[in-house]
Amino acid sequence: MIERQLLIAGNWKMHKTQGEARVLTREILRGLSYGLRAEVMVAPPYTALAAVAAELKGSTITLGAQDAFWEQQGAYTGAISPVMLADAGCHYVIVGHSERRQHFGDSNRDVNRKLLAVLDAGLTPILCIGETIEERQAEKTLLVVAEQLKEGLAQLPAGSRERVVIAYEPVWAIGTGLTATPSQAQEVQAFIRSLLRELIDQAAESTRILYGGSVTPDNAASLLSQPDIDGALVGGASLKSDSFLKIITAAG
Ligand code: PEP
Repeated sequence: MIERQLLIAGNWKMHKTQGEARVLTREILRGLSYGLRAEVMVAPPYTALAAVAAELKGSTITLGAQDAFWEQQGAYTGAISPVMLADAGCHYVIVGHSERRQHFGDSNRDVNRKLLAVLDAGLTPILCIGETIEERQAEKTLLVVAEQLKEGLAQLPAGSRERVVIAYEPVWAIGTGLTATPSQAQEVQAFIRSLLRELIDQAAESTRILYGGSVTPDNAASLLSQPDIDGALVGGASLKSDSFLKIITAAG
């Protein structure tokens, strides 16, 4: 069986000035225990990327961005390209987060273009997918997730298959304090892996599928013990070093 290294990723969303980001990064670095098996990533806002990159230099924590536009450069006021993010020291880029879909109108097609551009720049995309509460209640969870996954991964170059990370984030669990139970999350994530087997063949076995949605120090260990949960995308609890460090510790 292929062993997948757990990834604990902090999505700081629209929080933290440069100074605050530096302090949080230093606290996380100071609190990391030796012999950590999980990979840790933080995704600050664009304005704090350089500051956090400087703090992370020489450490094992990787840097991520929360979104990217699909063009490399040009007249796209306000946009940031994957090439710029690579230049800023990023390794990961989150694409398709439900807050981007909800507030900025990102469609599955947009998400796909972003994902391909991120790969093209040599970076690793974290593709977020997940259903709303209405879709879950209408028993459309698997349908919605399948559509987001298939359209998000469309035209994926064969050589890039191994690089994609998926994050299953039920929209009703993001920032709400409601968490999918470990078995609810496992059910959907096992389904995602079975679909990945059709879409990307053997690479599905090494693809990391994260869970996101109100992950806390209290629920992290039980979620991470599930066979198809290969890490966590953490929003609120990644904004304070003590809660983020406890989640990292739960990952082992
Ligand atoms: C997220 O932003 O991806 C997220 C899961 O947020 P939270 O942990 O706050 O629910």
